[in-house]
Amino acid sequence: MAISVPDSTTRWRCSRCGNLTRFDVLRTKRSKQYWHFDLGGSWTVEEETALVDDIENVTCRWCGADDSVELVARVEDV
Ligand SMILES: [Zn+2]
Repeated sequence: MAISVPDSTTRWRCSRCGNLTRFDVLRTKRSKQYWHFDLGGSWTVEEETALVDDIENVTCRWCGADDSVELVARVEDV
């Protein structure tokens, strides 16, 4: 089962080594974008609408575990 993207109250944690900060994310994303070109030919993406956005797999950068990343509550800073 795919893991959810963290929101404002949650974060990812590797339950094997305790890593909270570094992950490799395999993500499938399909989107519709509005590209705005300048006269020189460079462009910026000014609008993006996600049509598909799936996190397929999250791997811990520290220990390499790909089955141990879990969603946990963020610790409140006081
Ligand atoms: Zn780990």
